[in-house]
Amino acid sequence: MTPIRNNWSKQEIADIFNSSILDLIYKAATVHREFHDAQEVQVCTLLSVKTGGCPEDCAYCPQAARYHTDVKVHKLLPTEEVLKAAVDAKTNGSTRFCMGAAWREVRDNSDFDRVLDMVKGVSSMGMEVCCTLGMLSEEQANKLKDAGLYAYNHNLDTSAEHYDKIISTRTYDDRLDTLSNVRNAKISVCSGGIIGMGETENDRVGMLHVLATLPEHPESVPVNALVPVEGTPLEAQERVSVWEMIRMIATARIIMPKAMVRLSAGRVRMNTEEQALCFLAGANSIFAGDKLLTTPNPDYKDDKKLFQVLNLKPRQAYKNIEAPKIKFQQIPL
Ligand code: SF4
Repeated sequence: MTPIRNNWSKQEIADIFNSSILDLIYKAATVHREFHDAQEVQVCTLLSVKTGGCPEDCAYCPQAARYHTDVKVHKLLPTEEVLKAAVDAKTNGSTRFCMGAAWREVRDNSDFDRVLDMVKGVSSMGMEVCCTLGMLSEEQANKLKDAGLYAYNHNLDTSAEHYDKIISTRTYDDRLDTLSNVRNAKISVCSGGIIGMGETENDRVGMLHVLATLPEHPESVPVNALVPVEGTPLEAQERVSVWEMIRMIATARIIMPKAMVRLSAGRVRMNTEEQALCFLAGANSIFAGDKLLTTPNPDYKDDKKLFQVLNLKPRQAYKNIEAPKIKFQQIPL
């Protein structure tokens, strides 16, 4: 049995990352089959519940207020609208529903109370509920946990060394603090990053090294390819190749064998064969629905065809894990 290790050296990870691509895929596929049903892929839906107007300066993000992009800014959506979207997502086969708000951090105000209601509502549908709301204190994480939150997404984005070329309004340590607050509240951790932001291969290895040497590996590791958006500082960035995505996915799979590795932004540009290679390399989750927060994504129909061609089956919610105990009165839907 491949051991779960948190003591990887950066050199060990670099050696895996730089191995010949077919060997890397073969090794990752082998580890994948040891820990997961390779026919299973989790289908998740990500909804932007509050879009744009964010005070942060993440160079890739069209939702930062300081960049002039075509994003349609809106305040926090009404709870009923979010719950209806979750019902639609579930009907279309999603078992995980993630709600994203373009906030620097969570504030203890009426908007947060409404997010807690959204979490309760979605959780009572039996879906895995995830939020991505910016920085979070341990107390706020506990409140989300009590509302039925299963997972919290907070990406490292890139390596510690490349970080200040991408974001200046919060530090790498701020991100790690949020991850530790989430972990302390016993919420499942979702954290990964984005490639194609001008980083070196050494930076990619560096980010994977930080994730794989956390006291516990994230349960979920999204791997995103930058989708350059006009008006952002990274608008002219060259798109990454599918091989670069595969290298990231396969390395993540080998060094964090139990994690769900999520093939995330950038999938819209991949054909069936390219996505098949990503699944072979250990990706076992996708985001479905025509939008990924604000960027384009394949729609449900395309993914149904993809699953048919590749003989994949959707993973059920809370497989091999305990669903959060509902401590609240169920919201009528
Ligand atoms: S990535 Fe999140 S924190 Fe950064 S600008 Fe976009 S919405 Fe704000």
